[in-house]
Amino acid sequence: MDKKNTKKSHIIIVSNRLPIILKKAENGKIEVEKGAGGLITAMAPILKNRNGIWIGWPGYVHEAGIDDNRFPAIQSAVSGYSVKSVMLSSDELKNYYEGFSNSILWPLFHGFTDKCIFLPEYWISYQEVNKKFALTVYQNTDDPDFIWVHDYQLILVGAQLRKFSKRTPIGFFLHIPFPPIDTFIRCPWRFELLSAMLEYDIIGFHTILSKRNFIGCIKKIIQDAQIDAKKAFDETVSEIRFNGRVIRTGVFPISIDYNEFSLHSWDKKVYKRSKKIRNNSPDTKILLGVDRLDYTKGIPEKLKAFKWFLTHFPRFHKKVHFIQLVVPSRREITAYADLKLKIEQLVGEINGIFSTNDWLPVQYMFRNLDRNELISLYRACDIAFITPLKDGMNLVAKEYCACNIDEKGVLILSEFAGAAQQFYQDAILVNPYDIEGTARAIYRAFNMPLEERNQRMRNLRENIKNKDIFWWLNSFLNAAIEKDLSSFPRVDEYFPDKPTANLGM
Ligand code: UDP
Repeated sequence: MDKKNTKKSHIIIVSNRLPIILKKAENGKIEVEKGAGGLITAMAPILKNRNGIWIGWPGYVHEAGIDDNRFPAIQSAVSGYSVKSVMLSSDELKNYYEGFSNSILWPLFHGFTDKCIFLPEYWISYQEVNKKFALTVYQNTDDPDFIWVHDYQLILVGAQLRKFSKRTPIGFFLHIPFPPIDTFIRCPWRFELLSAMLEYDIIGFHTILSKRNFIGCIKKIIQDAQIDAKKAFDETVSEIRFNGRVIRTGVFPISIDYNEFSLHSWDKKVYKRSKKIRNNSPDTKILLGVDRLDYTKGIPEKLKAFKWFLTHFPRFHKKVHFIQLVVPSRREITAYADLKLKIEQLVGEINGIFSTNDWLPVQYMFRNLDRNELISLYRACDIAFITPLKDGMNLVAKEYCACNIDEKGVLILSEFAGAAQQFYQDAILVNPYDIEGTARAIYRAFNMPLEERNQRMRNLRENIKNKDIFWWLNSFLNAAIEKDLSSFPRVDEYFPDKPTANLGM
């Protein structure tokens, strides 16, 4: 890619959802709000400075009597840069979004093949909707523009743009893990998905494992692709040659706006609220879990580990309070509705066995908290208990550390979260399938001396501060335009080679 060209170009972000939230007010009117989140924060200045456009679905389905045409203008005014909507019908939402995206790609890429529903009509809809997105991009871009497509819902957009003869540089970032060949190969559309990925100029992953899995799949499934195996498997950014083109693939662990979270934690309201949470549980340590309702998050396994902890260490009864926040998500999909029942049953079981008149072991909340409430919880808790069975990154882990301004907290983290690749030296890593090992990690966190907690938390926070969301954005864009690949240092990699929750007790 030519650096000069890219400098002059606009940037076009394409994602399933637009960076805005549409809400129906009590009077029936639709109100538009700015979305939150690291990606939105990081992209805003770039989009504003480079006359960029964000293209995506605005999050609602057309309703009779509502003029959809007035939304783009409102949306652009709210976000401060140009926004273009791709409207979806309820059938498309069912087949492309709930179907192919969330009942095939999401479980497959996280390794939950038993949850995949490989329906051909899902594939047809996925292709049609990806084409619809590509058409909107095509109609709104000129040739020197850099198009950056995000995530698993839109894998085919780049290939579709090439069919419209777009030669513009196109990048893709996968926000979820990429699976190994023995998992990926089960997908009936494996060849089509992989070939489509090779139409991008640069493809980004969170971890070296995902990149390695992707290259492994390319080697087996796309015969003519040329790969320098040693470099491809180890280097941060490496190249694949295919059909006379060079495709770069790289590792860019996404992050958060560290300063925003850290500063927000000093807020007086946050302080008061966190103090109140603490006062509700005097003389106890607070264990906190924050997870979207999803089978990848390992919530039942975590509850079983907590039950094991209470069963085997009765001296901690009344000394621990586990707050588990579950954020509602995808409840229209059966697997998610079933999971909610399972979680509620386990919470009831633990509280039924152990609670007393003055102690409730598990406080379960099923709702979305606002930013102040969430940060107050992060501040109030002693131990963050984050144990997904598989997770692309896990931003909650990073947010918790950024908010831990007194640096006394402990992070218990699953080996299978992308964040473990960055935090393996300072978090207590656990295998979430190992119920006893996870319970023993709680014990270890409880007993960790203050000095050790301070040191570990300081390191974690420094790590996140140095590699925040702006670092992530710059790394990806640099890899898209940089000629010299040696400027990207090798990525650090963790692989468990010894028992994780090594306890000394
Ligand atoms: N979050 C939220 N509302 C809540 C709890 C959490 O918006 O009530 C946010 C949290 O701040 C984080 C995101 O949800 O940014 C979860 O991101 P993560 O990477 O941990 O998991 P994902 O849900 O993307 O799989």
